[in-house]
Amino acid sequence: MHYLDHAATTPVPPQVAQAMAEALTENFGNPSAQYELGRKARDLVEQGRGCVAAALGCRPAQVAFTSCGTEGDNWAILAALHQNRRTGRHIVTTAVEHSAVLQCVKRLEQEGCAVTYVRPDSAGRVTAGQVLAALREDTALVSVMLVNNETGARFPVEEIAAGLRGHPALLHTDAVQGFLKVPFTAGSLGADFVTLSAHKLGGPKGIGALYIGGRARNTRPLLVGGGQESGLRPGTEAVAQIAGFAKAVELRCARLEEVNAHMAACRDYARRRLGDIPGLQFIGPADAPHILSFSLPGYPSQNLVSELSGREIYISAGSACHRGKVSHVLSAMGVERRTAAGTVRVSFGPETVRGDIDALAEAVAEHREMRFPML
Ligand code: PLP
Repeated sequence: MHYLDHAATTPVPPQVAQAMAEALTENFGNPSAQYELGRKARDLVEQGRGCVAAALGCRPAQVAFTSCGTEGDNWAILAALHQNRRTGRHIVTTAVEHSAVLQCVKRLEQEGCAVTYVRPDSAGRVTAGQVLAALREDTALVSVMLVNNETGARFPVEEIAAGLRGHPALLHTDAVQGFLKVPFTAGSLGADFVTLSAHKLGGPKGIGALYIGGRARNTRPLLVGGGQESGLRPGTEAVAQIAGFAKAVELRCARLEEVNAHMAACRDYARRRLGDIPGLQFIGPADAPHILSFSLPGYPSQNLVSELSGREIYISAGSACHRGKVSHVLSAMGVERRTAAGTVRVSFGPETVRGDIDALAEAVAEHREMRFPML
């Protein structure tokens, strides 16, 4: 098998599975319980929080666990709007956010919010100047992702944060694809809310975290219920997922530079190998080490993905979340339809080896030779 879809999700290392198994079978108590078994589960949750906070460079109290990145994005957006309800109901975001942000702000738009969608240039980049120029007096929230999940573009969140000083708008960044892939700390970013998700870095699915810091105050919970997570996120804590998230973060941090250099080397090698295929075009800047998008214009990406899948080479047609449709990211970049419809994304992890990329390049070249363009 050649798994080249780490931006969609990642395999869980045995140590992570082990940490989860222990939490499920031995430390299975409810963290709210008063007896010893409960205390052990509570300790696991707090150790996990400490681990994520250390990787983010913030205080543990600034990290709340969520069920996924999608929840973190929705929560941050709604919490920022609530906190700034007297400032107004204008939101600035980009046209290339993940649907966890875009669909949330679209719903808010239907409910009366005004939204400005900053468009990227043809390379997929957005400047801080564009974002700051969209600010209005009634802007309550700016939400700009750190790393785009389709193009690997890295957005200037730090510069946007600096430009927001003196403006009441709160800043949220979806760092699901950026966390432990591009260097940053909560302090260096300067965002008030930062969304994370475990399953992009060797952790389990179904667990994420939201950093709540900066100018965020009295953050309104998304859910109502019990008093877990200091009253911020009710629901019995997902102890095993948290233990797995923490173990994945710990493993990644222990080899951070090595793993990121390895992924960047994979990306660069893939660029060299694929670059030899006639007509193949790279899409986007691939700033992040783990993401590379390319197109065979005229060859529908769905066909390429399924043909490769028959050879156990797993890649994705754009973002895994947009199956079948031409991606909103490519449309916003102005990529012409034929090229957009032929675009696929490959993404790398610590386990990727040269042989995976060789198999990919050979299969893509063969696909181009054996099939007629259909678009
Ligand atoms: N944001 C980005 C940029 C993503 O790539 C993803 C997942 O693909 C998400 C948010 C959603 O994360 P989750 O799958 O944990 O809900």
